[in-house]
Amino acid sequence: MLKAQETVLEIDLKALNHNYQHLKSKLQNNTKFLAVVKAYAYGSDSAETATYLQEQGVDYFAVAYINEGITLREAGITKPILVLHPLAKNFKKLIAYTLEPSLYNTKILNEFITIASVEKQTDYPIHIKFNTGLNRLGFSENDVHLITHKLKGTNAVKVTSIFSHLAASEDLNERIFTLNQIETFKTISNHFIKTIGYKPILHICNTSGILNYPEAHFDMVRTGIGLYGFGNSEKENTHLKPIASLKTIISQIHNIKKGESVGYNRAFKSHSFQKTATLPIGHADGIGRQYGNGNSFVTINGQKAYIIGNVCMDMIMVDITNINCKEGDEVIVFDRNQTAEHLAKSAKTISYELITSISQRVKRSFLK
Ligand SMILES: *Cc1c(COP(=O)(O)O)cnc(C)c1O
Repeated sequence: MLKAQETVLEIDLKALNHNYQHLKSKLQNNTKFLAVVKAYAYGSDSAETATYLQEQGVDYFAVAYINEGITLREAGITKPILVLHPLAKNFKKLIAYTLEPSLYNTKILNEFITIASVEKQTDYPIHIKFNTGLNRLGFSENDVHLITHKLKGTNAVKVTSIFSHLAASEDLNERIFTLNQIETFKTISNHFIKTIGYKPILHICNTSGILNYPEAHFDMVRTGIGLYGFGNSEKENTHLKPIASLKTIISQIHNIKKGESVGYNRAFKSHSFQKTATLPIGHADGIGRQYGNGNSFVTINGQKAYIIGNVCMDMIMVDITNINCKEGDEVIVFDRNQTAEHLAKSAKTISYELITSISQRVKRSFLK
């Protein structure tokens, strides 16, 4: 591995494959695998990761928005792509790129059927989302008749899948709630299949659902965070490999005398002689202000260097008083050892937020 010479997010595709194989080993042979690659594949790069995953044989992809799906099609992804949160304004584009909408209420179902009819589609694949307790998006249990009645009146669309989303699959204290969501989903699916007269693909599990509720894999699972190396528990993390490492370098070293301050608003004041290193990464790159003022550290030559003072837009300053290092040396913000999950925790957030926040300004490089 080359030493970093600039701020770079290194993506290890072998680690991605490791995680894919591990998660797949948790499934029955005939359970389909949907890879969630929304938000630039959780901050890595959606085109590269999806292309790689398609080669490894994943069955389905999901993104949040239509534009994200278009990026995948333009990168050569031919597998079906579920759009979890499509907005009616872009439905024509969705159809032009053969993306498959998740439809979650009467308004959007009607709007999609209208556009699909105008576009002269028959049996266009759609996915019906049910709310079983998350209270975010989805039809309610009582809507089954209304939906199936509407669908019987058109041949423009056909239901490829029925699905729901778990609210607390990572939290074993909420096991009863989750089991109740799963039961509700079963009731809805049975009712739906009976009234529509054919069986769509059923799916409810995200990564933690796969790991904690093997009885609820149904026909397909949707995994995001697990592919990127986090299992939402210490135990599961040991089987997964974070795929992304964020690295930077030391731009400048300063000697700070007792009483001097460092950074904006003079937020840090030195009580004794100190050495600081200035790094070319800041809140515009995804290291938010909550990581500053001693909350979090980066790693330089194997040692912890705490962020001092306020995080700037393009830079942070770190304490290297007791670290043997020089300008140009490599700095690890997170990697497989000092994980994004640990760093996120130091600022009271979660890995999902940190990794999806690494901005597009940061160069991505791929280890193949
Ligand atoms: C983001 C998302 C997922 C993936 O969840 P992970 O916890 O990252 O595995 C699955 N399903 C839906 C509906 C989502 O929005």
